[in-house]
Amino acid sequence: MSTVTDTRPVVLREASLTICGRREGKTRACNSCLRKADAAVRMATEPSLNTALLPRLADVICGSAGHPCPACWEKATTLLLELRA
Ligand SMILES: [Zn+2]
Ligand SMILES: [Zn+2]
Repeated sequence: MSTVTDTRPVVLREASLTICGRREGKTRACNSCLRKADAAVRMATEPSLNTALLPRLADVICGSAGHPCPACWEKATTLLLELRA
């Protein structure tokens, strides 16, 4: 019970759904995407990481070693728009 405006859990849930893939009736992402969302949100809200943020985000989401696939590029773009809105 707290009146503090802690939006982080909400942000995290939304981000994880974006990463996992949104679907009608789907309310939570899988554990793997939850972990990715945690890393991605931390990255995206870190002001010092403005340069090359998108490729890094895509990489975290894809779990690739520097070569994210097109689908994850798209997710990273969506995520960034959501987080920086
Ligand atoms: Zn998932
Ligand atoms: Zn990918």
